[in-house]
Parts: sequence; structure tokens; C-alpha cells
Amino acid sequence: MSGPSLIDSFGRVHKNLRVSVTDRCNIRCFYCMPEVVKFLPRKDVLTFEEITRLTRVFASVGIERIRLTGGEPLTRRGLSNLVGMLKEVEGIKEIAATTNGLLLADQAADLWEAGLDRLNVSLDTLDAGKFKQITRRNGLDKVIAGIDAAQEVGFENIRINAVAIKGLTESDIIPLATFARQRELELRFIEFMPLDGDQQWDSTSVMTGSSIRELIEREVGALVEVERKLASQPAKDFAYSDGQGRVGFIDPVSAPFCAACDRVRITAEGKLRNCLFSTEEWNLLELLREGATDQEILDSIVQSVAQKKAGHGIDSEEFVRPRRAMYQIGG
Ligand code: SAM
Ligand code: SF4
Repeated sequence: MSGPSLIDSFGRVHKNLRVSVTDRCNIRCFYCMPEVVKFLPRKDVLTFEEITRLTRVFASVGIERIRLTGGEPLTRRGLSNLVGMLKEVEGIKEIAATTNGLLLADQAADLWEAGLDRLNVSLDTLDAGKFKQITRRNGLDKVIAGIDAAQEVGFENIRINAVAIKGLTESDIIPLATFARQRELELRFIEFMPLDGDQQWDSTSVMTGSSIRELIEREVGALVEVERKLASQPAKDFAYSDGQGRVGFIDPVSAPFCAACDRVRITAEGKLRNCLFSTEEWNLLELLREGATDQEILDSIVQSVAQKKAGHGIDSEEFVRPRRAMYQIGG
């Protein structure tokens, strides 16, 4: 028998919660953050206890999967303690994290032991100079060491997320594809979205998933589409026809997947967003700190989901960019 669920006015049932545990980061990817950035005061960031309580409320209406993100989640001290706390929440079936990998070599074992189920590591290039150009910092070697450490402690099916930027990362695609195949990593390319800190995005800088796929088929090998495990999964995955490895494409700009979206998000300071591109927010931190009951928090969540729009409309004339950049939302 299924319990209550979080359904919007288009019939989409919500199962996924993305939790930003910090807006801070140890690098400055240009597509996410400005070079100079002012982070939230720590007192304004949800505590682990507050995140756990909210997760319990979300789980009571059918949320099953949590993704910890940020900012860089591994810069939040004691992240593995939070994983342990969320593991105890009834109804939560999977806890995942998305990281830039820089601190992974130090934390992989603790995260694994705490019960983290899945890891996505963001990596756009294997060229140290290009890494610095994108992230405005050094650290490629640390990311690779982090991936190695995560595999060693037991994480399987680690995903590599690569943002593809036209005029910048074309030459990184084949080396990344080859690296992922050799290391048994699932590679996913993400189209550049209008969430950069400097508001420089325009549609001409988007390298579409289909153009990347053509390049990979030409240079690496034929691909065969794999059936989606879940209808709500944003990526279209392909297997190499020789059986060695997979590559996927998340194409929010050229092929939006809003119709099957099952995600809601909480920012580091406890604002609930019903979409990455939402221009409205519901202040859960205020409710928590003013002593609201679980039912009052739930009412706010239900109201937010009820107002979710059909789609983000990036390609429409009326599209309004959210005030927040990606690091202030949580990707
Ligand atoms: N710091 C972690 C990391 O980089 O993996 C987690 C947070 S980051 C905001 C989450 C994901 O969003 C990363 O894979 C990053 O590459 C992606 N991202 C950031 N800005 C983006 C943008 N404007 N368009 C598409 N993806 C973006
Ligand atoms: Fe930091 Fe991730 Fe944003 Fe890069 S994408 S600046 S690693 S939060």
C-alpha cells in the first residue's frame, strides 16, 4: 500500500530531494559562481538537525532519495555525520552526493562507512591548464586522487558530471570519454544552463548533448541507447556497442525533461524551491526556527509543489533567469 505523496498540478509525483548543505566552495567554476563571492553567514545555514527534521517531513509524503550538494558539500565539516543521520530517516532509500572531488581522498572512507550510496564527481577536463581556466583554481590531481580513493573504499558506478561549453571544452570530450571507459566510471555530459554567477550565459555557448554524442560515436565507438531505469531520470544513457562503458547526456536546454521531473530542492539557508529555475521560494528555515509544527512545514511544502510550473521555459521569450546562481541553489 502506498502512503501520501507529493503531487503537483500536472500529476508529477515527487520522490527526490536535493539538499544544499553549504553555498561555500573551494574552487570557482565560472559557470556557477562569480570570481569574488560573499558566502552566507554560518548562522543562516541549516544545521544537520534541521536538515534531518525536514527530510523526515519530506519522507512522510513520499520523498525517497536525497542528493547532498552545494556549493561544495565536502567543505561542510562532518558531512559523513549528516549522512549517518539521514540514513536513519524512515522511507529514505538512497543518499547520494555531488562533489567536485577535491576533498574526496580525505573523506571517501568516512562517507562510505556512514552509508552514502552514490557519488557524482564533477570533472570537465583532464587538462590541468583548462581545469584552472574553468575553476579559477588548481586541483585536477586532487580530483583524480579523490576518484581513485572513492573506488578503493568501495563506491561503485561513480558518475562523472561534465559541463560542456562551446568554444572551450570540445577538445576535452574524447579524453574524458576514454578516461571514463578505462576507469569504469559513468560519464554524463550536462548542457550549460543560464545559472552562471557572472550572467554571461547565452545559447551560443551551449554544446548540445546530440553534438557531443555524434563526436563520441565518430571518435570512440558506436552507442546504443539504454532504457531509463526511472522515468524521472534526467539523463539519456547510452552503452558503447563493444560493451565497455556508458555515457549519458543531460540536455536541459536542447531537450528539457521537465514533464517527468520529480525533484524539489532546499537551499543552504533553507529556502524550498520547486524548480532549479524557480523565481519563488518558501522559507522553511524561518518556519523551523519560529517553532512551526511538522504539519505547518508540510503545508508549506505542499503549497510550493502545487505551484510548480510545467517547465523552465529557458527557450521562451518570457524566460526569467532566477536571481540565484547555481552555487546558491544546489545543482
Ligand atoms: N560542488 C559540487 C560539484 O561541483 O559537483 C556540487 C554542486 S555543483 C553546483 C553541482 C553540479 O552543477 C556540478 O556537476 C556542476 O558542474 C553543475 N553546474 C554548475 N553550474 C552549472 C551550469 N551553469 N550549467 C550546468 N551545470 C552546472
Ligand atoms: Fe563549486 Fe561545484 Fe560550483 Fe564548481 S560547480 S564552483 S565546484 S559549487
